[in-house]
Amino acid sequence: MVADSSSPRCQGIKKDGTACQALASNGKGRFCLGHDPDLAEQRAQARRKGGQNKARATRARKALPSRLQSIAELLERALQEVYSGDLEPRQATALASLSGALVRLYETSALEQRMASIEEVLHELGRTSR
Ligand SMILES: [Zn+2]
Repeated sequence: MVADSSSPRCQGIKKDGTACQALASNGKGRFCLGHDPDLAEQRAQARRKGGQNKARATRARKALPSRLQSIAELLERALQEVYSGDLEPRQATALASLSGALVRLYETSALEQRMASIEEVLHELGRTSR
């Protein structure tokens, strides 16, 4: 997605008081999805729904290996901040791609450990059957 300079920018103000630089949503062209006053009720609904899902998400997160929990928290925060216009979508994309690489590393390492213990068991079995 390339944002050319003629693309209309959101006129909203972020929580930190600076101007929102997000692209204005299609159609009306004055605010992004996070700042459009016409979408305030939908955002409130989404937040309520988010509250209901939060308990479930917390349980799911606790089931993750501890090293992945902090990544999950970071990604959840990034998701909310992109939605509210506090984080550039481009930064969120970089975060997603880096954390994806990190997760693949963890997965590879976990697989290697499992393979090693399986090989060890097979080795033991091979020795005892002869
Ligand atoms: Zn905005």
